[in-house]
Amino acid sequence: MANCPVCETEYTPETIENCPVCGWDLTPYPPTLGEIPQSYQEKAQTNLAWSRKKWDIMADHQRQIKQLQAQLETQQSQYGESHKINQQLQKQLEIEQDQYQESQRQVKQFQEQLATLQGDYQSILNAVQEAQRKSEHFEQDNKQLQETIQNHKRDLREIEQQFNQELKQKKIVEDQLYMSQVECKNYKEQINELQKKLKTYQSTNPSKKTKSYWDRPDNL
Ligand SMILES: [Zn+2]
Repeated sequence: MANCPVCETEYTPETIENCPVCGWDLTPYPPTLGEIPQSYQEKAQTNLAWSRKKWDIMADHQRQIKQLQAQLETQQSQYGESHKINQQLQKQLEIEQDQYQESQRQVKQFQEQLATLQGDYQSILNAVQEAQRKSEHFEQDNKQLQETIQNHKRDLREIEQQFNQELKQKKIVEDQLYMSQVECKNYKEQINELQKKLKTYQSTNPSKKTKSYWDRPDNL
């Protein structure tokens, strides 16, 4: 086995003419030419050195290109990944924008409801104030009514006192009347008794003409 003098690829001598990697001519010098002149050998050495140097530079470039390709692939896959993430984020953003719009709509609805409620509250407040005013009027009226009732009660008490006094007076008068009636009855009984006595006396003394107390005197 031998190595290519330029790129050091292994090869079997006398099986190929050129290196399959760098294309360097691998055929030996033909022996029929005899000894190769010194100047030609030196020129061939210079040529080989130049080719080796160029090959090294090219190989270095190849390595750099491979590295850059690898980096490019990595970045492409990273780009693909971030593009996917970006799309997901875009979708999320759209969903969140929808949600935000929905929230804004709800906020507007709440604001409208709040305005309505505030209007209702103002109406209720007005009604309460009106009721308070009426209540104050009612209390004033009630106070006046209470005073009137108190006055009437006082009047009633005075009338009752007068009535009681008159009742007492009436009782006294009735007692007096009863006493008078009793007296009158007694007088009548006395008169009847006296009349009976008089009749008895007249019947026992018929000749004697006696004038009654109630008869008219003769000289009149
Ligand atoms: Zn080679």
